[in-house]
Amino acid sequence: MAKHEFQTEVGQLLKLMTHSLYSNKEIFIRELVSNASDAIDKLEYLKITDEKLKGFETTPAVSIGFDEKDKSITIADNGIGMNEEDLISAIGTIAKSGTKSFVESLTGDAKKDSNLIGQFGVGFYSVFMVAQRVDVISKKAGEDQGFKWSSDGTGSYDLESVTKDENGTVIYIKLKDEDVSEFASKHRIENIVKKYSNHIPFPIFLNYEEEVAEELSEEDKKAGKEAKKSIEKKHEQINEATALWTQPKAKLKANDYNEFYKTISHDSEDPMAFVHTKAEGVSEYTTLFYIPKKAPMDMYRVDFQPGVKLYVKRVFITDDEKELLPTYLRFVKGVIDSEDLPLNVSRELLQENKVMANIKQSSVKKILSEIKKISKKEENYKEFIEQYNRPLKEGIYQDHMNKDAILELVRYKSTNDNSEMTSFADYKERASTEQKTIFYIIGEDERVLRNSPLLESYKKNNIEVLILDDKEIDEVITPSIGTYKDWELKDVTSCEAPKTEQSEEEQKKVKEEFKSIVEKITEVLGEAVKEVKTTDRLSESPSCVVKDANDPMAQMAAMMKSMGQEVPESAPILEINPDHKIVKSLNGCTDNKMIENVSWLLLDQAKMAEGIEIKDPVAFTKRLNEVMSKAF
Ligand code: ADP
Repeated sequence: MAKHEFQTEVGQLLKLMTHSLYSNKEIFIRELVSNASDAIDKLEYLKITDEKLKGFETTPAVSIGFDEKDKSITIADNGIGMNEEDLISAIGTIAKSGTKSFVESLTGDAKKDSNLIGQFGVGFYSVFMVAQRVDVISKKAGEDQGFKWSSDGTGSYDLESVTKDENGTVIYIKLKDEDVSEFASKHRIENIVKKYSNHIPFPIFLNYEEEVAEELSEEDKKAGKEAKKSIEKKHEQINEATALWTQPKAKLKANDYNEFYKTISHDSEDPMAFVHTKAEGVSEYTTLFYIPKKAPMDMYRVDFQPGVKLYVKRVFITDDEKELLPTYLRFVKGVIDSEDLPLNVSRELLQENKVMANIKQSSVKKILSEIKKISKKEENYKEFIEQYNRPLKEGIYQDHMNKDAILELVRYKSTNDNSEMTSFADYKERASTEQKTIFYIIGEDERVLRNSPLLESYKKNNIEVLILDDKEIDEVITPSIGTYKDWELKDVTSCEAPKTEQSEEEQKKVKEEFKSIVEKITEVLGEAVKEVKTTDRLSESPSCVVKDANDPMAQMAAMMKSMGQEVPESAPILEINPDHKIVKSLNGCTDNKMIENVSWLLLDQAKMAEGIEIKDPVAFTKRLNEVMSKAF
């Protein structure tokens, strides 16, 4: 027998489990039955596709036993099983980086952690909420040697070779002494299995003993004879064992769908929505998709775990194929079951397969129209947007075929209202009749954006501007939108300000009047600016910085950025407000030192107002102090 230390993260997770922070202890049965079902799925698939296991005979089943006196439960399956290596890697280590980072996010604060764990599937380890010791006895299909893994859920586990006849896994759970012995009972187990695992596609048997009395004849009864009692062993199927998605919709209740969701997702909450579709005709398939209430923890990781399982004629094929749905819908969980794909479909084939492409396409349509349904109820949609606005935005860029549909679904903050998110459609609805443009501003900080000097003229002219504060993604996606229903989308930092009442003549006059000071500022700032000019877009601020929309270099930079490349910020255009007291006074100023200081201050403050870092904060402070000293 060999002793093995748990990986640090497993140790942490186990500590959490043994202190049973999670209030809903009964789910350990759901998790272990779900693992058993997965193991049977894997073997069934290999029986069809793997030369070595072709003709291998098993009748898929899960068996549950219990012992009231011993206070123990046993869950057995005849699935794929685990050898020594599997046991070490599967239940002594956390390989998935998503799970790892979840464990890292645990705080040690019992309350907070139990909330987190509710959002997260903990699988096998959940057994330590109720177990003082667990033995996993397993033999891999097609191999001869069995192994036993045992642990009390603290620092280490033991591993030894054992003899086991059948392939598959037996999990022996010795229950803790305190208040969990209730689980070793027929009724409790039966209820839990019916609740969560009724639609696991394999039969689940419960083994129990029952006292039965012999049938007495009328005569014997009259004679007062006592019936002989004996103990009978029962082996009773306690679930329906029909894959849920194969059932007609009319037969299923919301609750059936919800519990099945929990089984496949390990989520503790009901889903936000689900959609169940049976397609017949040229291509025959069933899909059942769920949108979780909370976005999966690994949604923003490249190595996210896909949520959709592929079946072919009820035989499980894979749950690790990221291409079943486009990646922007990676938060969707569920099942695709095709009647037409070949059972031994390989990954490479899957990606080029016409049948699969067709299923994928109509699945996306279904899911998007389900999201549209949610969007009709404002309260619900708020929750959806909170979780999934960002992946949807990715869809605008990724899914050209459905771009128009997705443009109806994304939401943005806006100057129209400080709290509500708006759709493009509503923006358009609110705009004045002459307006044919959707204006937006992009940055990291909502407050900075809302106070940007660039918005002053829009406010004055009552024009709404969308506030895009998810810079990382908005900056890449938004320029690719182009138009929404013929309305051009324009970035306020690189387009002309809305027209004011100023006539061309007046503008010309102003330009002339400020010509010499504009030249002086340009000379002082040199390379730091692309151009300096007067503007009528400002009312309260003395200056602002804008990008040059017509600069081919700027367009190139935007393109490179959208491809994920780092590009240096190009020099901005500095615009100054000729109606502002500072600019007016500067115009008549002859003190060269003062002109130099104020020029730099005008540029630096304009940059700061847009949340752009200034190059030399020390010089900024020095200039500010010099100007202030002069002011007194
Ligand atoms: P998950 O099921 O989400 O992968 P678990 O912690 O529940 O996470 O299980 C970890 C791994 O252990 C599984 O992925 C599987 O490889 C293996 N495993 C667990 N239970 C069984 C079983 N009954 N038969 C075969 N393998 C199992």
